[in-house]
Amino acid sequence: MAVDESGRTFGIVAVDAAARPVAEAWGTRLRELGRPVQTWFGPAPPLDAWLTAARVGYRLLLAGPEADLLALRARAGVLLDAEITLYVTDSRERVVRCARCRTATRTAAAVLDCAGCGLRMAVHDHVSTVHGAHLGSWSGA
Ligand SMILES: [Zn+2]
Repeated sequence: MAVDESGRTFGIVAVDAAARPVAEAWGTRLRELGRPVQTWFGPAPPLDAWLTAARVGYRLLLAGPEADLLALRARAGVLLDAEITLYVTDSRERVVRCARCRTATRTAAAVLDCAGCGLRMAVHDHVSTVHGAHLGSWSGA
């Protein structure tokens, strides 16, 4: 995946091993261009510190499982969509937010019981970038 070269400074996150080659390719390209790059390998990057120090022209590049990327995307709410690049390595699991009790449950199922209130819920394609989760609501069964 081509890197967004329009930024001035960059934060790169590879959440898991599958994401590492993509993140390393991004970092290599940006260093060739002489751009400052911060890189983090693992699921818990210091996003708050990065974003506090970020200035105009900052770009955040995230690679990893969809459920993790949506959570990181939600934490990076101060950035515009155009300032964030997501590279999904695995979309089998999703985080589902219960419409009744707001509990987030990570699952690969299309229908599940809410971990918070037990509601039998269906997973919708609708994704909240604010909450970093898919919507789950009563499955009707
Ligand atoms: Zn619930």
